[in-house]
Parts: sequence; C-alpha cells; structure tokens
Amino acid sequence: MHDRRPVCVVRCRTAEQVSAAMRFATANGYPVTVRGGGHNVAGSAVADGAVMIDLSPMRGVLVDAKAGVAHADGGCLLRDLDAATTRYGLACPAGVVSHTGLGGLALGGGYGWLARTWGLTCDHILAAEVVLADGTIVRAEGDRHGDLLWALRGGGGGFGVVTRFTLRLRPVGPVYRHVAQYSMDTADQALTAYGAFAEQQPDTLHTVGALKRVPRRGAGADEVVLRLTAAYFGDPDEGPRQLAPLLDAAPPKADSGQVISYAELQALGDHGEPAGARYYTKSAYLSTWSEPVTRPLLLAASEMPTRMSSIDFEYLGGAIAAEPEQESAFPRRDVPYMVTASAQWTDPAEDEENALWAREGIQRLGASRVPGVYLNYAQDTEWSSAEVFGDRRSRRLAEVKETYDPTNVLRSGQNTEAARPAPRASEGMPK
Ligand SMILES: Cc1cc2nc3c(=O)[nH]c(=O)nc-3n(C[C@H](O)[C@H](O)[C@H](O)COP(=O)(O)OP(=O)(O)OC[C@H]3O[C@@H](n4cnc5c(N)ncnc54)[C@H](O)[C@@H]3O)c2cc1C
Repeated sequence: MHDRRPVCVVRCRTAEQVSAAMRFATANGYPVTVRGGGHNVAGSAVADGAVMIDLSPMRGVLVDAKAGVAHADGGCLLRDLDAATTRYGLACPAGVVSHTGLGGLALGGGYGWLARTWGLTCDHILAAEVVLADGTIVRAEGDRHGDLLWALRGGGGGFGVVTRFTLRLRPVGPVYRHVAQYSMDTADQALTAYGAFAEQQPDTLHTVGALKRVPRRGAGADEVVLRLTAAYFGDPDEGPRQLAPLLDAAPPKADSGQVISYAELQALGDHGEPAGARYYTKSAYLSTWSEPVTRPLLLAASEMPTRMSSIDFEYLGGAIAAEPEQESAFPRRDVPYMVTASAQWTDPAEDEENALWAREGIQRLGASRVPGVYLNYAQDTEWSSAEVFGDRRSRRLAEVKETYDPTNVLRSGQNTEAARPAPRASEGMPK
C-alpha cells in the first residue's frame, strides 16, 4: 500500500554498520527511516527519497535467565524473542501477533496478553544500545542518557536507531484460554456484560473482544458474530471459575476453553494478518463502556466490508495503569478502554471504501472518545503531539528530539511535530 521509493535500503548486521549508514545519510543530506518488523500500518519505515536502515538481518537474542533479562537485537520479531525466552519459562510482555517487529512495538508502547499482569513492552526496556543521528553509538541506561531512555519507553521512533534492547523478563507458565461466541441477537447483552466483567477481573486475566463477519452455516449471507477471548495467567485450573461470572451473565452460543503454552498463545493471531493484504486501522481510547459505545460498534460491525476486517476492543487497566507515570514517555495509562476498527482487503480499487468504514465506525463513538490515540495503531496524523502525549510529555519529547536529532534526520512520522514528514498530496487515503 505504501508505494514509496527510498534512495537506498541498507540492510545492517551490526551497530557499526547502522552507524556507517547514518553517517552516509547525514553527509549527503538524506533523511533516514528505520525498518524493524515492517508492520507499521502507516508505513513509517519507508519514505520517498530517504535512506532506509533495514534491521531485519539483526534478529539475535541472548537470554540471561538468572538475571531475568534478554538482550534482543533491534530487528527482532516478537517470535524471535519468545522462542529464546520461553525455553526458560520467561517472557517479555509484547503483542499478540508473533511476526510483528519488537522495535516499533516496544518504542511505541506494546499492548498484549500479559500487559494487564505485567505492563507494556516499553515498561520492560531496562537499557538500549542506540545509534544516534550523527552516527555515535551510545548505551542508554539508568542516568546515562536517561532522557533518551525515557523517550524510548513509549515515545515512538525517531530518537535514534535501537540496535539492541535490554529487556526485563517475567515468569510464564501454561495459560488458560477461553473463547465465547455470540450471534447478533445476544451481542448487545454480551457487550454490556463484558464491560461489567472486565472492570472487575483480576490483573492476571485479560479479556478482549472482536466483532467479525463469518460465513453462515449452509447458504445465505455472512453473519456478524461477537467473540470474547480470555487468557488467564494464574493457576490454569482456576481459569473456568474466573470466567464463570461473564458466562453466567451472558451465556454464549458456543464456547471452549483449553490450557495452552504461552508460545502457542502468542502464535494464535498469526494467520489473520497475512503479508500482502491491504490494511487500514482507526483506533480510539474510550472513557466509558456503555450504550453510546456498544450501539455504534454493532452498527459499524453490520456494515463491515470484508470478512478479513474486524472491530477489536479491550479493557486495559491492571499493570498498564499501575506503572508510575514518570518512568516512561507512554501517555494515557489511565484510559480504561481501547477500540480499533481494522479493515483488511486485497483490491486497491476498494481502498477508499475500507478506510471510510474504519474512520466512520470510530467517529460514531463521539463523546466517549478520549483525545489522542495509541501511536502504534495510528494511520494518520489526526491528533497533534500535544493531544497524544499531553503538553508536558510532548514538550519533553521535543527537547529529547532536539538533543539527539536536532536536524530531524530520523523521520518517524509519529510522535513529535518535528519528526512528522510533510503530508503528501499523493498519499491517496481519505483523512
Ligand atoms: C499484524 C499486526 C499486529 C499487531 N499487534 C499489535 C499488538 O498486539 N500490540 C501492539 O501494541 N501493537 C500491535 N501492532 C502495532 C505495532 O506495534 C506497530 O505496527 C509497530 O510499529 C510495529 O513495529 P515494526 O518494527 O514491525 O514496524 P516498522 O514498520 O518496521 O517500524 C515502525 C517504526 O518503528 C520505528 N522502529 C522500528 N524498529 C526500530 C528500531 N530498532 N530502532 C528505532 N526505531 C525503530 C521506526 O520509527 C519505524 O518507522 C500490530 C501491527 C500489525 C500489523
């Protein structure tokens, strides 16, 4: 979808090679973009006329199980990290699709199954090896480049190229996973029950929802269904008892529960998001979960243009909200809900229809929306940096940018106003 032409793509294997690429770019006046896992929906890894530093050959992970720490290269995918750490019964909380890049996910925040239990991925960045815009290689740790480390924890990309993350690991064992499915005639009741349940659930339980279009049994048009999926990280035998209040309040049409490994849980989302499809996401934080939210969501679901699309929602809270605010640049820890309309399709002629569906679905949520957005799901620049981060954080991020990349060599398009490339008329997607 992002048909842009960099001047060159530099596939790096070491921090020194990243440094050489950076010096080449600055000496020749080229801006630089960074590719981690290549999953950013806005296509921030690639820009016309820029040098793209591609970290995909840098996927090594070293685990110090005794210290509960992993050293992961900047181009790792989530599956690289999980494969190395789960051998020791450890994991770093991360996203729900294992082919996502650790780099972009961690720098922008990192929501996932373990977030309510242990916090976001960015909360687990203990230190980072970073190549700065002038080619210098530094290690941000503790008070050494403390302002840079703070910005890397959820402030988005654009402050330097992280060639290695040092991440805190957490213990993980078998997980109880439960899926409950509802047809549209009971979805309203189930959505209401979801909110009441989710706000009471223990931090070791994460329950998410999705509205999807599925083929109807036999002939006829597709039907829309609601799926509530839970992962319980306490004693797996206790899982069914934890879910009982939800299932009693809203008996599903079909449901099943099983105990799986954490590695299996992490791979379950992989097939729904194939490479080569076209994607548009529109996301919002919500202050409440009530009829003015659930009704528009059901309406948007009824208008879903393709089977591959979905409306996803989750109650956040838990360790995400408990993390001290000042430790990281990540904003809006206190918002309770996030909703994302994810359009997925294949025919370029349907770009506009799909993007409009996602945008309108979210806009209908009206006053329940909290200003700002989760950077990693933002497809456009609807919100200013101050609206995303708040005034104080946004000013501090601008200062860090000024210190480490004063001439805005690294373009991420995400966080500080300075880092945003000028919008291009030819981008083609409706705002
Ligand atoms: C299928 C899919 C599933 C997803 N699931 C989740 C999820 O469960 N939870 C969640 O929170 N998010 C999720 N996301 C969103 C994801 O966090 C963002 O798309 C993120 O930008 C992906 O990072 P990447 O490295 O793959 O992306 P890229 O497109 O490679 O990079 C995006 C930006 O990140 C920066 N960047 C990446 N690596 C580095 C680095 N090493 N050093 C410096 N800058 C770097 C650059 O600014 C770059 O422009 C998902 C996205 C997709 C497409």
